[in-house]
Amino acid sequence: MHIGIAGVGLVGRVLALNLLRQGHTLTLFDEDTAYGDNAAGMTAAGMLAVFAELETAESVIFEHGKRSIALWPDLLEQIGIADAYQQEGSIITAHPQDYSELDHFIETLKAKVDEASEIELLDKKALMQLEPDMEQHAKAFFIPHEGQVDAQRFMKASSDYLLSHPKVTWHQKIKVDEIKEGQICFAGVCEPFDWVFDTRGLGASEQIENLRGVRGEVFWLDAPEVNITRPTRMLHPRYKIYIVPRPNNRYIIGATEIESEDKSPMSVRSSLELLSAVYSMHSGFAEARIVNMVTNCRPTLKDNLPAITQEKKLTRINGLYRHGYLLAPAVVEEALHGGILK
Ligand SMILES: Cc1cc2nc3c(=O)[nH]c(=O)nc-3n(C[C@H](O)[C@H](O)[C@H](O)COP(=O)(O)OP(=O)(O)OC[C@H]3O[C@@H](n4cnc5c(N)ncnc54)[C@H](O)[C@@H]3O)c2cc1C
Repeated sequence: MHIGIAGVGLVGRVLALNLLRQGHTLTLFDEDTAYGDNAAGMTAAGMLAVFAELETAESVIFEHGKRSIALWPDLLEQIGIADAYQQEGSIITAHPQDYSELDHFIETLKAKVDEASEIELLDKKALMQLEPDMEQHAKAFFIPHEGQVDAQRFMKASSDYLLSHPKVTWHQKIKVDEIKEGQICFAGVCEPFDWVFDTRGLGASEQIENLRGVRGEVFWLDAPEVNITRPTRMLHPRYKIYIVPRPNNRYIIGATEIESEDKSPMSVRSSLELLSAVYSMHSGFAEARIVNMVTNCRPTLKDNLPAITQEKKLTRINGLYRHGYLLAPAVVEEALHGGILK
């Protein structure tokens, strides 16, 4: 089939990689360049927090999350970056005054899924064995099976792969105005395809009812004095932060969650909260260098769950909210095998 994809952010890329494996020919459209600097998929930390997200999510997120974790290694292998995947588990901790909140969080997870019984309480000694650099903390939990995809490497390597693929044509900097039965329309013309996909994230809000943006802000810090190797969260009554390690002592610190579609630069309040929380997590962050501050919006539906909608010769995939990396491979698999392009 000759297939058109409108929107080549995270979901569009995962979809394109799957469709190429099935032998289809693709034409991609994005209003951005092929390097996707404005996609939410480029801002994301890439955490695969299959358990930790359960506190506020439905168990469908857990099931799709587990499936995606199984699918990511092959996708990354396909584009030559198998080492951009890490699945060594994650750590969650809190300040001593918030331990009851931490215990409650873990109890909530355990009440939701049986597999959460594998979450392990760590005393200071056990924590030091796993993460020697977290000596400031006396109590934490180890969450097995969680991991991360290096989101920025995924975006770059998938661009290179798709741009050089003989079965892919990529129309960059083209704003798609409408997508209808087998057609993608831009600049007053409609191009016909055997099938089309709408994966424009928040850019599809005119066509998808109740689609909204949820603002998120992240820091990138270079911290030579910090050596944390696993994604690590800290619970706090007012905010939740995570630290996601990348190579060469770089850490992604995130993320705020604000009901707004404002993509303007980070606010003073958010920067104070994120940076003071990260400093209280490890004093070595005091001398870290701020190398980037990024803001973007998560495409979110009313129920905060992803949705696949099928029309004639058209599939829309949207609403991946704060779980894009956690869910995209499984949601795309469902879209492809659930009916149309078997
Ligand atoms: C701060 C932050 C941190 C996050 N951290 C995580 C995390 O740790 N783990 C996790 O699982 N998820 C995380 N996410 C969520 C994840 O990034 C999103 O769920 C995911 O990127 C959504 O994918 P998408 O393809 O629908 O949208 P996007 O990635 O935004 O892609 C949409 C694409 O469509 C294009 N487009 C839009 N409109 C048009 C148009 N009219 N014509 C042509 N092209 C168009 C855009 O240019 C873009 O390239 C985070 C998100 C944010 C903002």
